[in-house]
Amino acid sequence: MKKIFLETYGCQMNEYDSELVRSILKKENYEFVTDEFKADIVMLNTCAIREHAHRKVYGRVHNIRHARGKDSPVMIGILGCMATNLRQELFEDKSLKIDFIAGPDSYKRLPHLIHEASDEGQKSYDVTLSEFETYSDVYPSRTEGGVNAWIAVMRGCNNFCTFCVVPYTRGRERSRSPENVVDEVRRLAAEGFKQVTLLGQNVNSYHYDNYDFAYLMDEVSKVEGIERIRFTSPHPKDYPDHFLDLMAANPKICKHIHLPLQAGNNRILDMMNRGYTHEEFLSLVDKIRTKIPDVALSTDIIVGFPTETNDEFEDTIRVVTKAQFDIAFTFKYSERQGTVASKKYPDEISEAIKTERIMHLHATQKEITYQKNLAHIGKTLTVLLEPYPEAKNKDQMPGRTDGNALVILPLGPYKGGDMVKVRIIAATPHALKGLPV
Ligand code: SF4
Repeated sequence: MKKIFLETYGCQMNEYDSELVRSILKKENYEFVTDEFKADIVMLNTCAIREHAHRKVYGRVHNIRHARGKDSPVMIGILGCMATNLRQELFEDKSLKIDFIAGPDSYKRLPHLIHEASDEGQKSYDVTLSEFETYSDVYPSRTEGGVNAWIAVMRGCNNFCTFCVVPYTRGRERSRSPENVVDEVRRLAAEGFKQVTLLGQNVNSYHYDNYDFAYLMDEVSKVEGIERIRFTSPHPKDYPDHFLDLMAANPKICKHIHLPLQAGNNRILDMMNRGYTHEEFLSLVDKIRTKIPDVALSTDIIVGFPTETNDEFEDTIRVVTKAQFDIAFTFKYSERQGTVASKKYPDEISEAIKTERIMHLHATQKEITYQKNLAHIGKTLTVLLEPYPEAKNKDQMPGRTDGNALVILPLGPYKGGDMVKVRIIAATPHALKGLPV
């Protein structure tokens, strides 16, 4: 049996894809090992979202080649978005000695690609983007004993935000049938998972025949044993009233919405091809809060998009201050080869200015998050406990509120997967502290 060491970079979609890859290759009698030095094949499931991600993978491949020695027969395969973004270019750098490449839609061909590369010693690759592949017939090989399971319900993205490589590395949107998704959820409930997170690059644009995302969420919520349902990553353009009404009424659907803003200035939003203005974004925030009063909101923001002036950046600060997000994931603009922005807008904002802006944004958001966390003190919240091994500090137990806030409580007669009522006694900008009631 050939031994494989698989390492995953990037987003949850890649984590899910690695579970698919494990399932596909285990069926072909490959064994997955956790010690890379015992592996005959090392596969890196890569991310292309920022230049840093690329550099990390190049460095990793060099390390593996160096550590295993120049005569080592170990094979290296590149999977994921870097495979479809750079394609055969990855073979050109002879020092990397990449043996095979497979894009996110080609994982069913991995046994063939590995065979071609190992037995015939040729550089094998498949980076075809499929309009149909959803791996609906592959049940992911997940780690045992988890509490939350990720489920990719759709793949690809049609939005073409000008800074993003995803439409080029993962192709056009296609969704799995609701029955196929609900079948997977039933199996997960039978395996003891308490929460499922529905995944997609633009998950709330899910549609299959006449079924939309609201229908899918409602069907998933009918599965016995599943206590909580989350979803990521959505786009602000796909929040119809009937979906928000379902979220407000259905106790299993967590009252947490990720709402990527990306920038606060309309000229920049237009250059990003986000399809909304900051006024429209803020009125969506108001509508969501009216329909789901206790909802928690998180967001993604890019600073330093080409030609963004200081005043235009201040618009981002103004929107963040008005929107009062519970948490924000912030990034410096990173030019991505092949995107519309890389062709049209030179990346001339200096690293120093990008750093200055992201520090300013961090400080603004940190204070908002802290105030939001302080407001939970004295409340009793229901917390879904995470698997204990993940606890950094061994005499504490981590869990998540419905709003996805991290809660730390003392060890006690409960375990990962338990839903515990917790009275919040303290807060920091990063987490809540609580005692079971
Ligand atoms: S919606 Fe998200 S995944 Fe799609 S192009 Fe925009 S940023 Fe990329």
